Amino acid sequence: MSVAVAVPAATRAVIGGSGSLAADFPGDLHPEARVVEGDLVFETPWGDSPPFTLFELGGHVALHVRMHGWRAGVSRGRASRQVFSVLHRAGVRRILSDAGVGSLDHLLDPGDLVVVDDFVDQTTDRDRYGVVVGDHLLIMRDPVCAAGREALVGCARRLAPARRVFARGTYVVTEGPRFESPAEVRHLQSMGDVIGQSFCPEVWLARDIGACYAGIYLIVNYGEGVVQEWEHDVLAQIFHEDAGLMGRILLNALAALPDDDDCRCRELRKPTLLG
Ligand SMILES: [Zn+2]
Repeated sequence: MSVAVAVPAATRAVIGGSGSLAADFPGDLHPEARVVEGDLVFETPWGDSPPFTLFELGGHVALHVRMHGWRAGVSRGRASRQVFSVLHRAGVRRILSDAGVGSLDHLLDPGDLVVVDDFVDQTTDRDRYGVVVGDHLLIMRDPVCAAGREALVGCARRLAPARRVFARGTYVVTEGPRFESPAEVRHLQSMGDVIGQSFCPEVWLARDIGACYAGIYLIVNYGEGVVQEWEHDVLAQIFHEDAGLMGRILLNALAALPDDDDCRCRELRKPTLLG
């Protein structure tokens, strides 16, 4: 695998997570998706990037990276900056993502889908002050792109009519890699609806590079102390059997995103006053 300096132009991106990890992406998940080139590794100021796939869909060129770019030997904060350095240089304007998450709300069950609209960052070791561009004040008034959420919710309801799809929710982001204790879950229940280890710093790195960000989250287990003890075979079954569905939702939503700026994401990025 060779390392490239120049990043090809792309306007859209999918940051794949644990929800779609077991699927070959884009593979045959969408009849019109066509891979241009795979295994693309790029130099970044934070080290060589994870491998990307460049593909075309619906007249748009897009980049895909697996599992948020996380891999052994690279901190998650550093991996995220590698990913967003590449997306920034490609000119990406719209990003979709996915992940498997735990439930903090006793009304949510494994298999439910949540398109979140807000988050609480409880991470502790992700280069919290690290950005890619760094010359803007990043306003988190509407942190998740409304147009991206609409596309994800619409495609999820069309492709998974038997599933419960929630159009809003708050994602509590923990550091991981371990899961949370019952006492931690009780504490975090006051903050949000689902719990997981992605979404930050991605959501604000997207705003840093002037891109929209939205994600869809598959409940794979209950938080400890919520409803009942979760079972590993159920989690594994969802991980494998729903990966194709998650991939199809992401690709259909990517194709359904509007061409113009009919959201307010770029208005929520102002020049810094700090020099
Ligand atoms: Zn937007």
